[in-house]
Amino acid sequence: MQSWPGPAIPKLPGRGLPLRLYDTATAQVRPTAPGDTARMYVCGITPYDATHLGHAATYLAFDLVNRVWRDGGHDVHFVENITDIDDPLLERAARDHEDWMVLGMRETALFREDMTALRIVPPQDYIGAVESIDEAAALIVALVDAGVAYRLEDGTGDVYYDVSRSQRFGYESRLDSEAMLGFFAERGGDPDRAGKRNRLDPHLWRGPRPGEPFWESAVGPGRPGWHIECTAIALNRLGMSFDVQGGGSDLLFPHHEMSAAHGESVTGQWPFARHYVHAGMIALDGAKMSKSRGNLVFVSRLRGEKVDPMAIRAALLAGHYREDRPWTASLLDEARARLARWREAVALDAGPDAGLLLDAVRRQLADDLDTVNALSSVDRWATEALSRRGRDPGAPQLVRDTVDALLGIALSR
Ligand code: ZN
Repeated sequence: MQSWPGPAIPKLPGRGLPLRLYDTATAQVRPTAPGDTARMYVCGITPYDATHLGHAATYLAFDLVNRVWRDGGHDVHFVENITDIDDPLLERAARDHEDWMVLGMRETALFREDMTALRIVPPQDYIGAVESIDEAAALIVALVDAGVAYRLEDGTGDVYYDVSRSQRFGYESRLDSEAMLGFFAERGGDPDRAGKRNRLDPHLWRGPRPGEPFWESAVGPGRPGWHIECTAIALNRLGMSFDVQGGGSDLLFPHHEMSAAHGESVTGQWPFARHYVHAGMIALDGAKMSKSRGNLVFVSRLRGEKVDPMAIRAALLAGHYREDRPWTASLLDEARARLARWREAVALDAGPDAGLLLDAVRRQLADDLDTVNALSSVDRWATEALSRRGRDPGAPQLVRDTVDALLGIALSR
């Protein structure tokens, strides 16, 4: 799948600090310890609707992970999927009397535009579900051969994963079985499907159904489930025990738990990822932004209204990535005012020492992406610069580069 063009990232003097991130599986902020090449997988969208601010907040959080690692001297192998075949896409296409493939292509194109406008560093591997069907099928065959997956005997061709055969099932989400069942039913699972061994068993493969697209594969005709799609795409490009598995907090269970269990069962190795990192949800008018509630603010709509994408970026980074937080008109106004001050300050011909600011921003971002304090640090520098304190002629350019490279905010227009 075609990715999107990457923004130029200025090289900063010196080197950034090792990144510490909150890991859901161990419930603590722990150092990431990547090798020369840091490996990150972030779960992508299902392209049946446009990118909303909740998506944007998630991809921004992992964009900062990417930028902090690069500043620390690592290469970054970043992989993202796009679920371009799944039930929600087919349901939306049927509702709107549209071809599911055309709908998916259109929303994927819009997503690329939004990511480009927000200056998200693109993945090296941007992989669609359809183009990776053979990869998922190969894993499913291996799981069936190992006895940890089974085909239902009802003639549908559907294949399920047996969660009771996973050695450490539940370690990623740390939920009790009641909470797991609740989320499973709420988020696409089918606890009451007849013929399953365990209520929490997720489907790996859906056999052909009338009116639905299907593909021939080593498992037979049909299409893969969502969890095995991510397992296959991640494993085949990053291998086991990659550094960060990322997504919104609504992927905590079942999606990330199941993807990890599939990968661990098929390889016999543990863990699937070293850190499981989850971004908080963005709310509007007191409720989480979600398709089912219809309270979505689309990035493309804001772009259409000529909102500066850097203001969207600054507004979302003004809260900590793990917090559920509201989107409000005043949040966007404050971000615009902040950007205007920063732009005025970096247009001066001198300012206070920017090396100190660079150190502060590096330290704050390395501490579980503390953007709240990082933005305040830039504010303080700008305030001092605008009150004509500081005579370093190189400072405005270094601040421009710092804000660009680490926060992804371009101050030039
Ligand atoms: Zn995923």
